[in-house]
Amino acid sequence: MTTIGSVTRQIAALEISSKQNKPAAAASGSSLRAAHSKQTSQEKVTKLLTKFSAPNPFSSSKPAQGSSLRHPTNATNQHAASSSASSSKSNLATKSPAPVPLDIGTYDGGLETENEKRGEKVYGEAAEELALDSSVSGKNPTREWTLHDFEMGRPLGKGKFGRVYMVRTKSEPKYILALKTLYKSEIVQSKVEKQIRREIEIQQNLRHPNVLRLYGYFHDEKRIFLMLEFAGKGELYKQLSKRGSFSESRSSRYIYQMADALIYLHGKHVIHRDIKPENLLLGINGELKIGDFGWSVHAPGNRRMTLCGTLDYLPPEMVEGKAHNERVDYWALGVLTYEFLVGAPPFEDRSSVNNTYRRIAKVDLRWPRDRELSSEVKDLISRLLQHDPQSRIPLTEVLRHPWIVKYNKHRESA
Ligand code: AMP
Repeated sequence: MTTIGSVTRQIAALEISSKQNKPAAAASGSSLRAAHSKQTSQEKVTKLLTKFSAPNPFSSSKPAQGSSLRHPTNATNQHAASSSASSSKSNLATKSPAPVPLDIGTYDGGLETENEKRGEKVYGEAAEELALDSSVSGKNPTREWTLHDFEMGRPLGKGKFGRVYMVRTKSEPKYILALKTLYKSEIVQSKVEKQIRREIEIQQNLRHPNVLRLYGYFHDEKRIFLMLEFAGKGELYKQLSKRGSFSESRSSRYIYQMADALIYLHGKHVIHRDIKPENLLLGINGELKIGDFGWSVHAPGNRRMTLCGTLDYLPPEMVEGKAHNERVDYWALGVLTYEFLVGAPPFEDRSSVNNTYRRIAKVDLRWPRDRELSSEVKDLISRLLQHDPQSRIPLTEVLRHPWIVKYNKHRESA
């Protein structure tokens, strides 16, 4: 039987389009160029996406909060690349009535206004470092993209280096993406050219339902544009702030997805190093998406000594300036579990940063008095928050832990 997972893989393998199929002459404008650029693959993608379409937001009585799936504008197939490609384990496909058109919202002209005022041209070595174009990138070239290939939609947010917009490709099938802009001169000012490049290179090669896809990227004189999977339900951090904390069942489902994604990342020798709620997004079905690779390292076999990441999530070995490996992410998973349930990280000390360091180094783990936690989750957190990285419970065992199994039975059968 074809599973959504296998379709995800097929879509991933197809890429959005490939350079090999680039037309020789692209005389009639960018959208025409786009439409012709990969006929065969696009037909296949259309077929797959039509069969395994985006979930129907109107199937439940309450529309998804913060979702852009409000008013269908026409009957054409408009898909969130993300939702169709990542709704891996739920059986949406065969039961959804018809493909649901997605409204990308109203564009506020922000990219142009911003571009008039913001950023400068970058020259020399830095310019070369930031001349990023997935159509010419080594292993997985995609087709050549420009801003004209997209219909602009609503603003999704503002990042440190530029805005993020919901967009739709002009060519069929109409993919919905998040287009993130990064101003080159600001990247250079912050001296993070290498980090950004690394983030892009890492993310581009990752394919997992709980890891935000980077479909492609391109640049102009002042900006880099990242074509990201659209995370329909936005930031997880916002939901956590709004609710204060999550239930055990909801937390357990997220931690399962995190552990699964981390097993995948570690298998590719990618250590994330900056796991925290602010770096997690939610897909259209509420599935978790690891979305920020700014601090991740591609470290086949070597142990790193740089201090980075967020203080509350730092493991003892990093606080103590020792070498570290992928088990820093095991620790962070323990901190994340605690924060989901309690609403604050376990070693937080608002009075002083040094106290936080001290509490981490001593593994001064205290359970909240005002919130009853199950003995199972306390067991899991304690096993992840071990001072000695080697003593931390392996991620494969996390997936089999009673607290995870209890709330993720459907995944096991899937
Ligand atoms: P960032 O530059 O990644 O911090 O993004 C700024 C804001 O844009 C985030 O806080 C999100 O609200 C939104 N955003 C970024 N990426 C996406 C995405 N792939 N899907 C939906 N919203 C996003």
